[in-house]
Amino acid sequence: MTAVTLSNITKQFGDVTAVKELDITIKEGEFFTFLGPSGCGKTTTLRMIAGFYYPSTGKVKFNDRDMTTVSPEKRNTGMVFQNYALFPHMTVFENVAFGLKVRKVNKGEVKRRVEDVLEKVHLKPFIDRQVSQLSGGQQQRVALARALVIEPDILLLDEPLSNLDARLRDEMRNEILRLQREYGITTIYVTHDQVEALTMSDRIAVFNVGNCQQIGTPTEIYNQPVNDFVAEFIGETNLFEVKRSEGSLNLFCDALNLQVVADSSIQEEFDENKRFKMSVRPEAIAISKTRLEGDNVLVGVVDLVQFTGESVHSFIKVNNGRTTLKVTDLNRGPSTYLKEGFELYVQLPPDQVRIVPVAK
Ligand code: ATP
Repeated sequence: MTAVTLSNITKQFGDVTAVKELDITIKEGEFFTFLGPSGCGKTTTLRMIAGFYYPSTGKVKFNDRDMTTVSPEKRNTGMVFQNYALFPHMTVFENVAFGLKVRKVNKGEVKRRVEDVLEKVHLKPFIDRQVSQLSGGQQQRVALARALVIEPDILLLDEPLSNLDARLRDEMRNEILRLQREYGITTIYVTHDQVEALTMSDRIAVFNVGNCQQIGTPTEIYNQPVNDFVAEFIGETNLFEVKRSEGSLNLFCDALNLQVVADSSIQEEFDENKRFKMSVRPEAIAISKTRLEGDNVLVGVVDLVQFTGESVHSFIKVNNGRTTLKVTDLNRGPSTYLKEGFELYVQLPPDQVRIVPVAK
């Protein structure tokens, strides 16, 4: 079992700082995800763990061993790339056996281990098939088998599902999780897909332009985002700037024309150099055709209703039509009053309103 520690890692490519002063500890056996938009440094960080890049400054450790400048073949990591990087004209067996042959494992042992891992990824019947004659999902399984067969200390997965269609992605998500739990292997997963990150991970690090914004469990990241970038990147939210009027503790939101009451008020002092926003998830907003009592109540007009089967999404105009709120009604079929053009009451429950600093 291997823990991975990244201490104060910076990676510079000429003038470009791909990763800046990164501190992350990944625990033994953990499924840990690097999540963020394109170009934010996820792959660069993964490659520093694999040893394909060395950091410009900082340290990479596997347990207590300093691996910062150890070459990739001496790290015992298994990697799955976005494009799989398989040998198309070799058979499934030859592709999966490759890493073992390089390690000079004897023939009998190679056969046993390859068959074993192909059984686990449900590809045994395809053992003699050329990789170019497999579907995308099957190729993905070969890539996984090839990474797992060497019994790596750490499994590194770089957007492994992005070339698959939606249905297959779901299926492979479960498959990867099942294998990860079965092998109990420390796994680091790179993705820009928040659903993948939320559904698969023990913990997530959210990246933005070379910086790690937040590390936490999926529920922490979703329910307690540390800033507006995380709130907006993970899931849907309603995000509006709030101001504190001089000499007052009250928050005011111009976009909603509302004196805002929030339970989870921020620790930091409001000052002129800092900006803050309120974030309310669409499913946290209450709607009613009869008047709602309490704080943060608005009058709205239904602008658009979308029934998705499991929930109803609506867009509700408030503040005399100036601002639109996204509202998700869970477990409810289309109701008689949630119709375009109807007037209703909307409440942003104070315990669901988060005040977050604006990321720099
Ligand atoms: P994606 O999801 O698009 O793969 P990413 O989050 O994995 O993005 P990286 O590939 O790590 O991002 O890139 C981070 C930054 O470093 C980008 O600005 C990228 O252009 C730059 N970069 C990455 N590799 C190199 C390189 N070998 N030489 C120069 N710049 C690089």
